[in-house]
Amino acid sequence: MGAMTVGKKQEIAIGIALQTQVLKTCPIHNQLYCDDEYGDDENMARAFSVAIDLVRQHEPYAEEFHHNAHELTDLLSYTIGSAPLHCPDCASQQQQYAVNEAVGERVSAGA
Ligand SMILES: [Zn+2]
Repeated sequence: MGAMTVGKKQEIAIGIALQTQVLKTCPIHNQLYCDDEYGDDENMARAFSVAIDLVRQHEPYAEEFHHNAHELTDLLSYTIGSAPLHCPDCASQQQQYAVNEAVGERVSAGA
């Protein structure tokens, strides 16, 4: 089989993001998220330099990304940019609490 799929390329980008701790996985739900508090510019810069090194120095990646590091860095920034700030499953649980609280407030305010 020839070229990897887009999914495979994205897996590489996710792997780099995880390795440099720009993205994390929720230990409970195993969901990807981008922890804004810790995902600082330094980690981001490291992620991009890892991506560039991979494409420049590692043949399977170089071939896959046509020796064009931009293809991988673009995918990397897209992947990071589209990751939620928190685990979506944890967030939905928190949102549930927030809704309950809001309803409770409205009830007591209307009394
Ligand atoms: Zn979670």
